Amino acid sequence: MDGIIHSFESLAAVDGEGLRYSVFLAGCPIRCAYCHNPDTWEMMGKKITPEELVKKIGRYKVYFGNNGGVTFSGGEPLLQAQFIKACVPLLNDAKIPYVLDTSGQVELTEDVQFLLKNAQDVLLDLKFPTNDAYRTYTGGSLNKTLSMLVYLEKIGKPTVLRTVIMQGINDSTDYLDLYLEKIREFTCIKKYELLPFHTMGFFKYEKLGIKNPFAEKTAFAKEKLTELQLYVNNKIKKEG
Ligand code: SF4
Repeated sequence: MDGIIHSFESLAAVDGEGLRYSVFLAGCPIRCAYCHNPDTWEMMGKKITPEELVKKIGRYKVYFGNNGGVTFSGGEPLLQAQFIKACVPLLNDAKIPYVLDTSGQVELTEDVQFLLKNAQDVLLDLKFPTNDAYRTYTGGSLNKTLSMLVYLEKIGKPTVLRTVIMQGINDSTDYLDLYLEKIREFTCIKKYELLPFHTMGFFKYEKLGIKNPFAEKTAFAKEKLTELQLYVNNKIKKEG
């Protein structure tokens, strides 16, 4: 079966450990108001077979070192779980590990469980700490993300949680406490990363003729983000 790919990025030092080759798969089931990749939403892009994709990734293997590999991102990569599953034996043969970068907004089908189990690490978005906020700002649900987190805990999968911080929405320590309450019990979380809202994707909304709900917002200040990250790290340390 073919995969539908939005784009590739070679050797990014983000989206997982080590030097990574990122594959951005097309299609997303939700619509985050702060999304900087609205061009990945539709299931449109370049078609590729698992063999072609793994061959392409294999060209970069020499740079991966001990911790690198491929990161499947999106959009929401798990919308194409069957395709990624078809890549896994080929990646295993080539000794290339993969990381999944997911919104958690998918059903835990057998294919999805297989992919979570076999991933090197999972990067999971925890977008908001309540179902109401999820609905308002993403059209998705907190319950789905928590179900995935429960599964990751059950299989003991190292998980990096990520939250985008936006001014006036989720940037108070009181509001961050709500996130921390939700994740207190989970020992699979090896890191909780706050990411700053940025405006680099604004031009894509204009280009696509899509209304940008956050067009008036500015990029989140780095210094403030550092403060909030410190707050979260200290709280996690204290509770752990
Ligand atoms: S899950 Fe990711 S790609 Fe989908 S709308 Fe949200 S931020 Fe954009």
